[in-house]
Amino acid sequence: MAAQKIEMMLLRAEDELLARIEGALRRPDLAPSALEEIPTTPWLRRLYLFDRAGRPLASPPGSDAAGVFRALLAEIPSGLWERGGRRHLVLGDQVVLAAVLKTARGEPVLVAGARDAEGLRREILELTLGAAEGATILAVLDHQERLVWSRAPVDRADRVATASLGEVLPSWQVALYQPRGMSLREAVRRQVTVFTAAFGLLLVVIAAGIVATYRLVRRETEMARLKADFVANVSHDLKTPLSLIRMFGETLEMGRVTDEAKRQEYYRVITRESERLSRLIDNVLDFSRIDGGRRTYAMAPTAVEPLVRETLEAFSYPLTREGFTVEVAVAPNLPEVPLDADAVSQALANLVDNAIKYSGERKALRVEAAVRDGQLALSVADEGIGVPPEEQGRIFEKFYRVGRSETQGRRGSGVGLALVRHIALAHGGRVTVESRPGAGSRFTLWFPLRRSAG
Ligand code: ADP
Repeated sequence: MAAQKIEMMLLRAEDELLARIEGALRRPDLAPSALEEIPTTPWLRRLYLFDRAGRPLASPPGSDAAGVFRALLAEIPSGLWERGGRRHLVLGDQVVLAAVLKTARGEPVLVAGARDAEGLRREILELTLGAAEGATILAVLDHQERLVWSRAPVDRADRVATASLGEVLPSWQVALYQPRGMSLREAVRRQVTVFTAAFGLLLVVIAAGIVATYRLVRRETEMARLKADFVANVSHDLKTPLSLIRMFGETLEMGRVTDEAKRQEYYRVITRESERLSRLIDNVLDFSRIDGGRRTYAMAPTAVEPLVRETLEAFSYPLTREGFTVEVAVAPNLPEVPLDADAVSQALANLVDNAIKYSGERKALRVEAAVRDGQLALSVADEGIGVPPEEQGRIFEKFYRVGRSETQGRRGSGVGLALVRHIALAHGGRVTVESRPGAGSRFTLWFPLRRSAG
């Protein structure tokens, strides 16, 4: 469109100029001096007029008119002299307008003039294209691709399209520039980058989703398996003491045991087994209370020594029967500590129960109570099978039990240590484990000496 506009504008200007010259030529009283005074236009400089024989009727002062005529003659078809009309020629590095007009007497006159870039810029291009607006920059290039005119500087822009100006300015072009940073190529590149990044992000999100789902499913499956094990283990744990109680009860009932000492032992078995049963049921009930967030604790200043002694007394029978050496070291002058005595006793009992369960050949139990690092440390140590380092973080999870080989033959529900940890945390304390497989374990309950505010 811009190219067409320029062409039209230029053709119209040429028409006007040639009409003006023809008007002068057709005057019957044509004097040679009149021709010299023909007004030219700013966009056409160095106007020449030649007659058919090549005599210059008008030429710029000091010019080589003969040379110019020869050059023109070589380029224009001879028919032009008869027919009249105009041609646009490229001579050297100039664009020349050549036209044949007729005088009043019908003699042909060759009019020729070179385009003036500066004049073109001012009179034609600025007027035609100056008003155009938009993000792109319009420019005009000459036949050697030199910039003749541009609406704005183009040194920081990319050329995106060109259109030839056609007949009036042969080999000249109108060019369209796109300022850099928003060039078409760059915009496309930027979009490709954005899409690639978005696609990459999408892939990452999908991958993360798959991993998360996989983990969740694995966790759920594991939890389902642990729960099934838990039910089987608890049922078995309940059955053992029940069948013992029943067996000894029936034996006593039938009156077959005559020996008083034996009878006393049977009574003790029944009492011990029913205690074990109570502990087990307490554990399960407490665990379900904790799981449902219903477990509450009643803290009161508690003397540590009696609490440890009473808890251990409940285990005196199995400890003696299994042949354990028991060491109890309660530091003298321990202050009273704010504790829920029942809960702490239950935690301690669970640790002692585990020490008995997970001891092998070396049967040694050491229970210690002391103030360490400004806290009450209650520890239960054994010389049993130990816990592998990689399992030490997991044994406090509910239902979790170390691989079957270690716990083979040792029944348990997998909630004991979860309960211990919950009790410790409820007191504002914690539970730690130090253990080496084959060497033994030490579980320590840490309790603050004073109730923390709030
Ligand atoms: P469980 O009913 O199986 O004993 P716990 O929660 O009390 O459940 O313990 C979880 C697991 O931690 C046990 O299955 C056992 O593998 C391991 N464990 C606990 N105490 C000891 C210990 N004193 N020595 C070795 N392993 C232990």
